[in-house]
Amino acid sequence: MSTPTRITHLVAGRPWEGTAERTSPVYNPATGEQTGVLDLASAATVGEVIDVAKRAWAQEWGQLSLARRTQVLFAFRELLNARKEEIAALITAEHGKVLSDALGEVTRGLEVAEFACGIPLLLKGGFTENASTKIDVYSIRQSLGVVAVISPFNFPAMVPLWFVPVAIACGNAVVIKPSEKDPSAVNAVARLWTEAGLPDGVLSVVHGDKEAVDALLTHPDVKAVSFVGSTPIARYVYETGTAHGKRVQALGGAKNHMLVLPDADLDLAADAAVNAGFGSAGERCMAISALVAVEPIGDELVAKIVDRMGKLRTGDGTRDSDMGPLVTRQHRDKVASYLDAGTEAGATLVVDGRAGEFDADGDGFFLAPTLFDNVLPNMSIYTDEIFGPVLSVLRVKSYDEGLELINANPYGNGTAIFTNDGGAARRFQSEVEVGMVGVNVPIPVPVSYYSFGGWKNSLFGDTHAHGIEGVHFFTRGKVVTSRWLDPSHGGLNLGFPQND
Ligand code: NAD
Repeated sequence: MSTPTRITHLVAGRPWEGTAERTSPVYNPATGEQTGVLDLASAATVGEVIDVAKRAWAQEWGQLSLARRTQVLFAFRELLNARKEEIAALITAEHGKVLSDALGEVTRGLEVAEFACGIPLLLKGGFTENASTKIDVYSIRQSLGVVAVISPFNFPAMVPLWFVPVAIACGNAVVIKPSEKDPSAVNAVARLWTEAGLPDGVLSVVHGDKEAVDALLTHPDVKAVSFVGSTPIARYVYETGTAHGKRVQALGGAKNHMLVLPDADLDLAADAAVNAGFGSAGERCMAISALVAVEPIGDELVAKIVDRMGKLRTGDGTRDSDMGPLVTRQHRDKVASYLDAGTEAGATLVVDGRAGEFDADGDGFFLAPTLFDNVLPNMSIYTDEIFGPVLSVLRVKSYDEGLELINANPYGNGTAIFTNDGGAARRFQSEVEVGMVGVNVPIPVPVSYYSFGGWKNSLFGDTHAHGIEGVHFFTRGKVVTSRWLDPSHGGLNLGFPQND
């Protein structure tokens, strides 16, 4: 076993030189080996980093021309594209997802950086000449100052990239607090920003846990918080951040349903269910975890899924595996505990992931793909977000029963309908109470120039991530009403100004 590497904060472009009072272990989930020891920031350290960010914004970045800011964005985009394999390898080493999947998440993040390169157009205001006689009106959008990004373990590169390029492009300084489970990818991406010419202090990384998060949520110089994580923490972050006067977008957990109508192509639906259920070991906020089969297709669809599951290889993400391990031993054990809970509640355990074989060395955090059939809405395997490779099949008699089930669920992140009936698909997209909808697309993650976000317990706040909503979140609007005085504006009139 090699000695764990120290992983620390990045402040003003450089590794933090202090000594942490508390640290946290980082593992390679495929081997179970501890590979890193992460410094956890105290509230005082977070405060120092915010001060650095505030100075960088006030003295430099917030004043810099759009042309200069855009040059940095383009340079960052090029560097990230050139080094995406390196970042992907870091993700696999600490998260466990297979390399191709890790590369996929960097690429989706890269697309947000590309979107942010268009910031001059996105920040272009409106101008109305002669709105009232000889009076012009125009709008501008200005940066907020220091903003915080707090991200989850499951997309260590992509989720930060949903926010950081847009926030920086809008002229803000950013302090990011990544997940303590897989912190290295964010450090690597932050170094690319420095290499791209971003002035020191405009982006800093603080690692930590609740203490660091609370310091960000309560500090008066943090103006906005973008959070992604589980629903209880998202709610807490939203309530605490807004109580301290910040604008907050807090994206939470999910239970995503795939509704399969009897007319669907069942082979394609089975492929989609397996890909979306077990990709990244089910640790995706857009994973399909509940498959709703409209009878009479349940038996046939389950048989096709089982057949495909038999072909999946679970193992070390650097090898030829389809699915990697779970992120930590505790999380693997928690996910595995649902296999007993589901069986005890009366669901049919069709494929038991504990019986799987794994292509890996050491003692990794593995659980092979698992399938439950005959799941009922009151069972914990349905009500809880398991966040692992466990797919539950629920059977319903009609489209209406399926829709009612989905709409009754407290989460509303993503959903999909599989059908060849355009009319049914059109009804579904209109009637379903979910923020992101796929029609024959199981993981409908919007492209970067649209915005990402769920409904109900999957998002607290009203602004989704990236796209034009991201630009609005990271700026404040101002409208200027202007006239260049001439004699026609003279005279006394105490009435409320009228347009003429
Ligand atoms: P998490 O809620 O445990 O952690 C998220 C962040 O909050 C981390 O940075 C963590 O350090 C911090 N945190 C944890 N506990 C805290 C506490 N008590 N007080 C303050 N901060 C705390 O989530 P996770 O396990 O890292 O990520 C998985 C969850 O994220 C799942 O629920 C998944 O659905 C959700 N997620 C949602 C989306 C989305 O877009 N809606 C995207 C990705 C992940």
